Amino acid sequence: MKPFQYHEPTTVKEACQLIATHWKKACVLAGGTDLIIKMKKGVILPEHVINIKKIPELNGISETSDGFKIGSITSLSAIANHEGIKAKQPMVGEAALTVGSLQVRNLATLGGNLCNGAPSADMAPGLLVLDSLITLSGVNGDRKMKLEEFFVGPGEVNLKKGEILKELFVPFPDKDMRMIYLKHGPRRAMDCALVGVAVALVLKNSGQQCESAKIALGAVAPTPVRAKKSEKLLSGKSVKDFPIQEIKKMLLTEIAPISDVRASATYRAEMISSLTLKAIENLVNLN
Ligand SMILES: Cc1cc2nc3c(=O)[nH]c(=O)nc-3n(C[C@H](O)[C@H](O)[C@H](O)COP(=O)(O)OP(=O)(O)OC[C@H]3O[C@@H](n4cnc5c(N)ncnc54)[C@H](O)[C@@H]3O)c2cc1C
Repeated sequence: MKPFQYHEPTTVKEACQLIATHWKKACVLAGGTDLIIKMKKGVILPEHVINIKKIPELNGISETSDGFKIGSITSLSAIANHEGIKAKQPMVGEAALTVGSLQVRNLATLGGNLCNGAPSADMAPGLLVLDSLITLSGVNGDRKMKLEEFFVGPGEVNLKKGEILKELFVPFPDKDMRMIYLKHGPRRAMDCALVGVAVALVLKNSGQQCESAKIALGAVAPTPVRAKKSEKLLSGKSVKDFPIQEIKKMLLTEIAPISDVRASATYRAEMISSLTLKAIENLVNLN
């Protein structure tokens, strides 16, 4: 590993100033489960490493009247084990549980998972269907945006000079919302998603009528994406009239999968249709 200067700020302001001062030469270090590997392999050679794990205000989960605030350095284990999240937003905790191993989840942070900009990031689809908002902190203060607007391209997120991801806000779902995250990979654990899908349906009339539908897809486009045209095919329909074949076709128009060493584009396209339909079926049949 190339030598670098190590910084340990204890406030968000201090961290942002350091990042702005050493812009393009600095990397933010959270859990390090991605960054350290890239540094060891020489993929990234920062001159400054800014460890944000010593900033208390970035850590923890708090419940407000309308949702959860999750600090960016909160570990995926803390999210998976949080009783409030398990009760009110189970999909978020379940998605966290699909990441790596216990050891990885104990170190890995929510912020790291999203700031990586990986199309396969397991936390992204669930948070997208829940319409999560993020707060970024910079030298000139905070700015907020929809999580959807944060993802720019593979490995690229909407962070400006001197900014860090501070926290996420995940609104409470409608009481009739059913939600699920399904991930497909070669192994059950320790593997990034070949494809992943989160579906949230608001089902009224004892689960017979779909008032609204949200679908988000992972690893089938340059960023995690919402499948908004497919969502429209479900919203306002009786579940027995869900146009399954149309949804399959529509999903294909909303993705742009690539072939790589892990899977071909064709396989990813097939799998995302199957997985999405399986997710919808699971939610509809849930008692
Ligand atoms: C064995 C193994 C298995 C894995 N399995 C999975 C898996 O199943 N699913 C999955 O999605 N991922 C997986 N990963 C990838 C990784 O563990 C996760 O993406 C993790 O959440 C990254 O978080 P981190 O805190 O370790 O990030 P770090 O490595 O610390 O940072 C990652 C990137 O984000 C930036 N960053 C971090 N926090 C912030 C912030 N608050 N503001 C601005 N920039 C920030 C860093 O500068 C860096 O560029 C795996 C990794 C390993 C090593």
